[in-house]
Parts: sequence; structure tokens; C-alpha cells
Amino acid sequence: MSDEIPAENAPAGRVPFIEFISPEIRAEANRLLPSRQQRKENLNNLEVHCDAQCGKALARSEIKVCGRCKQARYCSQACQKAHWKAGHKIECGEGSVNDLVFKLAERALAVPKIVEHFWMISIELLELLADASAAGRFAIKVQCKTQPADMMAALRRAMNGENDDANAQVALHYAGFAKVPLGDAPVRTRKAAEAAREKLQAERKDAEGAPVRGDAPVVAYYFVSEQDDTGKDGLLSAAWVLPDWTLAYMRSNPKSLLRSAMFGDKKVPVDMETLTE
Ligand SMILES: [Zn+2]
Ligand SMILES: [Zn+2]
Repeated sequence: MSDEIPAENAPAGRVPFIEFISPEIRAEANRLLPSRQQRKENLNNLEVHCDAQCGKALARSEIKVCGRCKQARYCSQACQKAHWKAGHKIECGEGSVNDLVFKLAERALAVPKIVEHFWMISIELLELLADASAAGRFAIKVQCKTQPADMMAALRRAMNGENDDANAQVALHYAGFAKVPLGDAPVRTRKAAEAAREKLQAERKDAEGAPVRGDAPVVAYYFVSEQDDTGKDGLLSAAWVLPDWTLAYMRSNPKSLLRSAMFGDKKVPVDMETLTE
């Protein structure tokens, strides 16, 4: 999946990635959706972890990267030095495919339509309509892969017996979503959930006239690759408060319009399969 342009910014003739069918819900979603500028800020503010395993997380725009590979991230020079000695000098290079998966998965988090779909999927997977408290007991493991961005070109190459072009453009592919007891999720994922819950509590305290959302479900996610089922110990973890309208939407009309390079546009139920292509 490539970065998709949300409805309000889409050039004429382009179909948005996900469109809500119910007009009221769509209006509400559009009202709440961040602007392009805000999405950029979202990505900059995304908390990322220091690769030296010191336990610190900083905003993406503030963390320093290894000057050579531009992949490894550090909170400080001390951590960079320690990590270099601990083995980064051997693995520092162009960046593996594994890293690419995480890079793409991270960029996808700045696309609100994709995040919304995660929300919807978590409502299904954790059965939050029946019991919203399940959000506090489970995390969601998102299995990520890369696949050729241009499927037809890749098929042609395969049929001609050509070797797979290592430089061919790849797209992110969500291969599956799994429900994992929160206690079994990586520490970073649990911390992300905790931080989101604390933030929610704090917001509830100083919100004047705003709706009380103290018991809104907070869902934690972590992203893993085929090579590493822990996703480098939850290196890419996220936790979101589910907005009320997502639950209302799933209660009334759990369908999305999906745009697919292979199958065109289709209305599909929101479920674990709808983001897998
Ligand atoms: Zn550090
Ligand atoms: Zn490096």
C-alpha cells in the first residue's frame, strides 16, 4: 500500500482510499480529520525509540539518526557510541528489507484513512461493541510485508523468467492482524498504551464543556515483519483512543469503500481481510 491521498485533497477523478458510506458519519469523520499540515505534524510527533535500548522515546523530528545508514536512531551521542560498539558497526549499511517494512509501516501511520481502518479493525477483532474493556486487555499485532508496488510488472518479470529486480518499487502489505494479550506484547507497546491512557485521563480533567471520554477504549498496536515476530521488541508501537464515532459507525454500517490497484473500487465489510491487498 502506498501513501494515499485523503478525500479532501484528492485530485479530481481520484477515489479516496476509504470512504464512509453513511453521510452523517462521513461528515463527522471529515470534521475530525486532521489537515495535511497536521498529518505532517503527526508524523513528526510520532514517538520513536532509541535503538540503543536505553528505554527512551523521542519525537520523530527530534531523534538523531546514524550519519552513515540514516536508519539507526538515538536519543544522544552517548547512546550512539554505545550502540556502535555493541554491534551497529557490523550491521550499519544500506538498511535491510526488514528496516524498509518498518519505515513504510511508520509512514502509513501518518495517513489518517489507514489509522481509521486500524480503529475499525480493532473494534471487530477485540469485539469492542460487546465489551469495550477488552481494549485494556489486548494489543493488536499487525503483520507487515512488502510486495511489488506494480503487481503486473512483477508478474511479467516472473513469466519471462527474469530474476526479481532488487530495486523494484515495493509497497507495504498488511498480511494479518492478531489479538495478543497485552501482557504478552512488547514492553514498548505496553508503555505506549499506558501513555495514551494517562493522556486521556489528563485531558478529561482539564476539558471544559468537552464530552467526557474517560472510558473510551485505548487500543495498542505493534508492527512486526516476517523476519521478526516481535517487531524488534515493538520498535514501532502505537496506541490510540478510539473516537466515539468509530463505535457508532461500526454499530450502524460497518462497510468501507476500498480502492484497490488490482480489483478497482468495492464496498467491503470492515474486517481483518480488507487491508490485506
Ligand atoms: Zn538512548
Ligand atoms: Zn548506522
